[in-house]
Amino acid sequence: MKLLQGIGASGGIAEGPVYVIRKKQYEICRKQSAGYDEERGRFETARQLAMARLSGLYEMAVSRAGEESAQVFEIHRMMLEDEEYLDCVQEGLEQWSAEWAVDQAGKQIADMFSQMDDDYMRARAADVEDITRQLLSFLSGGNGEDLGEFTPVSDCPVILAAEDLTPSETVRLDKSRILAFLTAKGSANSHTAILARTMGIPAVAALGPELLEVENGTRAAADGTTGTVCFSPDQETQARFCEKIEEERARKERLERLKGLPSVTRDGREVRIYANIGGPEEAEFAMEQDAEGIGLFRTEFLYLDSSDYPDEETQFRIYKSVVERMQGRRVIFRTLDIGADKRADYFQLPAEENPALGIRAIRICLTRPALFRTQLRALYRAGALGPIGIMFPMIASEWELVEAAEHCKSVREELREEGIPFSDQAELGVMIETPAAVMISRSLAKHVSFFSVGTNDLTQYTLAMDRQNPEFGRFFDPHHPAVLEMIRITAENARREGIRCGICGELAGDPALTELFLEYGVDELSVSPSKVLELREKVRSIIFD
Ligand code: PEP
Ligand code: MG
Repeated sequence: MKLLQGIGASGGIAEGPVYVIRKKQYEICRKQSAGYDEERGRFETARQLAMARLSGLYEMAVSRAGEESAQVFEIHRMMLEDEEYLDCVQEGLEQWSAEWAVDQAGKQIADMFSQMDDDYMRARAADVEDITRQLLSFLSGGNGEDLGEFTPVSDCPVILAAEDLTPSETVRLDKSRILAFLTAKGSANSHTAILARTMGIPAVAALGPELLEVENGTRAAADGTTGTVCFSPDQETQARFCEKIEEERARKERLERLKGLPSVTRDGREVRIYANIGGPEEAEFAMEQDAEGIGLFRTEFLYLDSSDYPDEETQFRIYKSVVERMQGRRVIFRTLDIGADKRADYFQLPAEENPALGIRAIRICLTRPALFRTQLRALYRAGALGPIGIMFPMIASEWELVEAAEHCKSVREELREEGIPFSDQAELGVMIETPAAVMISRSLAKHVSFFSVGTNDLTQYTLAMDRQNPEFGRFFDPHHPAVLEMIRITAENARREGIRCGICGELAGDPALTELFLEYGVDELSVSPSKVLELREKVRSIIFD
């Protein structure tokens, strides 16, 4: 039995035979050009073939994983038309073979990406490598496919292992034959991990080079949540995993039956169970899990997945698609929460000694009103298509809320004057994430229709413990009485002022606290889509006498 520890990239458990994909190795030597025109022609043919292939992959990805996931192939196509990239290849073609020029240009651009500070931009290096391999395949007379020989002998599904999987490879694989993905490299942020999550396949990344030494057909048990993979498990481990898989299957079946039922306690108290999402494609999953709405749409992902400020139209399209996908269920958008651990180069945020205590979220929006107002315009326009709420993160003082609400009002007036359809009904809310907001929650409540307690930050700021630091051990108590008391005070002040109180941080999904939260008067819980039905089951088991 051999154990490897990687990064859990897509949750779920799998047990079965491993199939290791050994990718074709391209031997690229520095060969003199056979003449500029000839090499240029060969490159151009390969480029056209790659572009046509990417269009096909885009269509395939739309049908298998949805429009948002398919965008990666559009990005790849755009790279093949990028001036900087083409200039780089062109330079090589003047002296060397097309293969060498493509290989060198790919390395140069991938290196440039991998040295960037921004997580999103760093992950783009893998995209450049993906394109390079496709071009090399076409240049060597291949068909752009690069997976080596993924031809398992029988139709029996396998746990697929590879050094890394590019998005184009991931999406082309027949989902019904894959139990899980294991990669030696990669991260939880890579597009492949995102695609695996969207496709609902367990995945473990960063298992290291030892993964590739595993013989095909070896049995493995993989846990996509913890990132643990056990090869040739002994009978006891194998039985344990099989038991877990069986339990998981039975649990899923039980929860499935709760779809369409209300989230109501046994004595008739209704609770709204919403989903937290970070992108439009997750709205589909939220609907599939029968979430009663979206309680937190983390809009900053739109800014983080971009190399420049997204304009009003781009934002509108994305907000609109979430509202439409939720088919009349309420969507609460949180305005931009950038800064602290979420940074994008183009914001040019100054270096700070204590970024978590720095200029982040509403503090950035109020100091850069044009940025804030662009987002508000897009949000109000999307509100014309279905019920929405808008809430502000990291509020610490009443004046911040007043100023944010004034921007909302003047944005609505602007849209009215321009004759652009928008929502006049969008409710405003405050995220309660700072102890200061808790202490002044009675005053804050007078300006809004709802509170949403962000327990992740509220815990960090109450306990003075960095949420990113995994070293706290016993010092960190997620059920700390100080945090629970903060939630109680917030819910009480919401009730006194006649507004709703929800929780959208991780604690909302902790079934051990559900009963207590309901006693405090919390009426909305917003959790990751995969937890919605579990929480509904919990709520339906509660009875207050
Ligand atoms: C929170 O702080 O609890 C929250 C929901 O926001 P985020 O985790 O995005 O900071
Ligand atoms: Mg927060």
